[in-house]
Amino acid sequence: MRLGSRFTILLGVLAAAAALLLVLLLDATVRRATEDRILERVSREADHLAQDWGRWAFERPAEADSLLRQAAASLNCRVTIVDAGGKVLHDTDMPPEKVAGMENHAARPEVQSARRSGTGSARRFSTTESENRIYYAKSFPGDQVIRLSVSVAGVLAIEEAYLWTTRTAILATCLLLFLVGSTAARRFSQPIASLTEAALAIAAGDHRRDLPHAGGEEVQLLAAAFQRMKNSLALALEKAESERQLTAMVLERLPDGLVVVDERLHVLESNARFARMIGIADPAGRALYDLLRRRDLYDVFGETVAGHETRERTVHLGDEIVWQVTVVALPPGSRAAAVGVLRDVTRLERTESMRRTFVADVSHELRTPIASIAAAAETLADAEPDPAESEHLLDLIRRQSDRMRELIDDLMDLAQIESGAVELVTSEILVEELLRETADDFSDAAARKNIVFSTHLESDLTVCGDRRRLSQVVRNLIDNAIKFAPEGGVVTLRSAREPGAASVSVGDNGPGIARSEQDKIFQRFYQVDRSRSKTRPGTGLGLSIVKHIVQLHGGTVEVESELGSGSLFRIRLPDAS
Ligand code: ADP
Repeated sequence: MRLGSRFTILLGVLAAAAALLLVLLLDATVRRATEDRILERVSREADHLAQDWGRWAFERPAEADSLLRQAAASLNCRVTIVDAGGKVLHDTDMPPEKVAGMENHAARPEVQSARRSGTGSARRFSTTESENRIYYAKSFPGDQVIRLSVSVAGVLAIEEAYLWTTRTAILATCLLLFLVGSTAARRFSQPIASLTEAALAIAAGDHRRDLPHAGGEEVQLLAAAFQRMKNSLALALEKAESERQLTAMVLERLPDGLVVVDERLHVLESNARFARMIGIADPAGRALYDLLRRRDLYDVFGETVAGHETRERTVHLGDEIVWQVTVVALPPGSRAAAVGVLRDVTRLERTESMRRTFVADVSHELRTPIASIAAAAETLADAEPDPAESEHLLDLIRRQSDRMRELIDDLMDLAQIESGAVELVTSEILVEELLRETADDFSDAAARKNIVFSTHLESDLTVCGDRRRLSQVVRNLIDNAIKFAPEGGVVTLRSAREPGAASVSVGDNGPGIARSEQDKIFQRFYQVDRSRSKTRPGTGLGLSIVKHIVQLHGGTVEVESELGSGSLFRIRLPDAS
């Protein structure tokens, strides 16, 4: 309930209680004062009457009763004369003939008191008159008692008019006090109420709301203190909000998934990357076990929280994805028990695995020629072979050295291209010229296998590129074609203009490449059938170099082939025009 209403009710109750109390007090006092006044009057009249009665009874006994009745009527009271035994001798309110039959009055308290001490008084209900009366009795010589009684109501009726005036004045005063009090209470409580309302609105988040300045000095001081509190609160909130935004921004931009968990391993906070990694939109408040669905992943968190120390684990999800999970235990006392960082290291792992494969492949490729050279050198040194045998061994050493040099050259090329350190020296190249010149370089090799070139070259077709590198591409393709074409086979060179591109293809009628192998042949060291490399030595790097150089030029390379029906390698380069 409002303060103002409470004050008003309190004042109302107080005013009503005060009015009631005052009226009751007034009534009682007036009644008492009136009765005392009557008693005093009656006692004086009793004295007079006692004297008159003594004289009448002695001088005019026959008229004494009627004189008594006249006196009682003029005094507006009842007069009773009682003898020493309590018998009623005269009573002005009773017909004379009934007086003798009246009840003995010796036991009446005022009569008894008068006998004992000369006078006596009493207030009580009179059965004879059927109303409240005041009695006064006085003994006089002859042991008789004279008693006067008056009706209280009769006397009070006179006072009632004054009483009502006073009662009305009391009620009006109390009402006025109530009105003044409640107005003052409202005036006092109103500013406090609006201050409270404003403070509640601010607490509910309405920080723009200002505190009112109305009311007395104390209220104004209170409002000013509130205002200062509000300002410093707003400053603190602003600071906290900007720090929260900064933290949120950092967390959101973090390339790793981040999750904060409590003792029960429920998520308290997480960033968007974590949500994306686990594939659940809103992880906050949920149990980590439901989110991760992986025992080993969940266990890293469980162990960290139980052991209070940092744990790290690499987790493989299926064949492809690899996560590195680091969970750091947080000091006790806060809501959070641990913070976990989930890093997707799939690419890193893949690179690492490629590096391992690469080293293994290079070692493997070098081991064969080195072993051959070592064996040949040993035979030459120890077995003293005949000149023909020596010549054969020296030739073997030469070929294996060439093969190693070729391998190392290819590796160097590839490393350079892959590192991105290759600067293309571009110029406009006539495709026909490039193909013819390169084919010429292979004329001896082709002749050795009776291979013929079939050329279908578009004249005036140009591309923009690095002549040396593109010639390396064509060389690798023609080399493979001659290598794989059968004795007396055909190598087809074709160039054509396509929309926005120039295409160059090198085909042969060799063994072809199975579909399942066609993607893999562009990988480093990949050779379809390593047993073939005995007859057609190669490094497995040629096509890989082709792919990289063509990509550097913004072009593509593809293979069309069926097992047993030859192969066709086609490169497309952006048109120079
Ligand atoms: P290599 O030096 O072994 O020829 P490449 O990268 O040039 O290495 O070729 C990779 C593999 O692709 C070869 O080992 C071979 O199995 C296959 N290949 C390449 N060109 C042809 C072709 N014209 N006909 C059939 N197979 C080919």
